[in-house]
Amino acid sequence: MSSDAVILEAPDRGETVDATARAFAEAFGYEPDGVWSAPGRVNIIGEHVDYQDGLCLPMAISHRCFVAAARTPTDLVRVRSAQSDVVFEGQAGDLAPDAVEGWPAYVTGVLWALRPFISGAVQQGVDIYLDGHVPLGSGLSSSASVECASAEALESLLSLGTTPLDRVRACIAAENDFVGASTGGLDQSASVLAREGRALLLDCRDFSTTPVAWDLAGQGLALLITDTRAEHSHAGGEYADRRRDSERAAEILGVGTLRDIDPAGLDEALGRIDDEVVRRRARHVITEIQRVRDFDALLERGSVREGVAQLGALLNASHDSLRDDYEVTVPALDVAVDAARAAGAHGSRMTGGGFGGSTIALVEADSAQDVAQAIADAFAREGLGSPAFFLALPEDGSGQDR
Ligand code: ADP
Ligand code: MG
Repeated sequence: MSSDAVILEAPDRGETVDATARAFAEAFGYEPDGVWSAPGRVNIIGEHVDYQDGLCLPMAISHRCFVAAARTPTDLVRVRSAQSDVVFEGQAGDLAPDAVEGWPAYVTGVLWALRPFISGAVQQGVDIYLDGHVPLGSGLSSSASVECASAEALESLLSLGTTPLDRVRACIAAENDFVGASTGGLDQSASVLAREGRALLLDCRDFSTTPVAWDLAGQGLALLITDTRAEHSHAGGEYADRRRDSERAAEILGVGTLRDIDPAGLDEALGRIDDEVVRRRARHVITEIQRVRDFDALLERGSVREGVAQLGALLNASHDSLRDDYEVTVPALDVAVDAARAAGAHGSRMTGGGFGGSTIALVEADSAQDVAQAIADAFAREGLGSPAFFLALPEDGSGQDR
């Protein structure tokens, strides 16, 4: 047996806002102009389809990144984080891809990506202090929470006049083109556009979103997040390999992206792909997009409670496809998912890019603790480290806190 599983709660939002403002004042010696924040996210279903113009269904979680910031009278950009000793200091006009090392690139990259909106003032300096409460590198998108909170601060401080979608696109550009970590846009869309009490049906073809009722608590249900704490790296080669495989499949099938393949013609389409690996990659993307349609249709038709068995089955099918066809799971993810299912979860799957990171399980609210304990016990049996547990409550997207 392992020790008691603890389901962790996000820190109080008001207190964290105060603490971030105080930390800014200590770091820079004066009061910030404001405090902004953006959440991490879980993707409920629709994984590894964003870069194939697919559909996905993320929601924001309670864990957020807070940014206290101020406009300065100089052209200096200074960035600090409560989670790191690394400090960035550089001139606004010098920001360019590859010019900034380490985590500060996630912040300065957003300033760089927003420069088309900064009329004649690319020399404007800012001081930024961030305090992130989304666990880093857990597949819950701490990176997007940093970017999107920064974008929100810059929008306000520099009166840029950007739309939420402009900020989504700037944050995607920051991560892809400035940090150099491949991202399809799911994370940034969720972090900016999420709505409280809703999941967000996201069409990655045009980043249009439709809020979907996702009232778990009112129906005695919960979404348990397990951060496996297994090593996870997105910038790494595996993620790029999967993207390449799916692009290759689209090329063979003569379509722009796999979104264009009608799932009704799945077998015929797969029959035209000789390479066995590329064929399985295509099968995942095409069937996963259909699972999102099916999931959304169930939620359109009735409550989560009414559709819970079928919704759970779709979550299970998604994980199995990611494990067998897309091959982005690792043992810790499979152990967490198997243990949740065995402990009575309606369904469970990995969430995020894979190769480590987190899983979700759709559970009865009053059994969340037992499911968490079953997962912790399975980890102990398998000699895996201790996982961390959270409940995913659908929160609002990025905005100003003060
Ligand atoms: P994920 O987005 O799933 O958490 P990523 O690898 O995409 O994982 O992003 C994690 C990276 O984001 C960290 O290695 C770090 O560079 C940066 N980051 C996230 N949160 C913070 C923070 N609070 N302070 C500094 N850097 C952060
Ligand atoms: Mg990330």
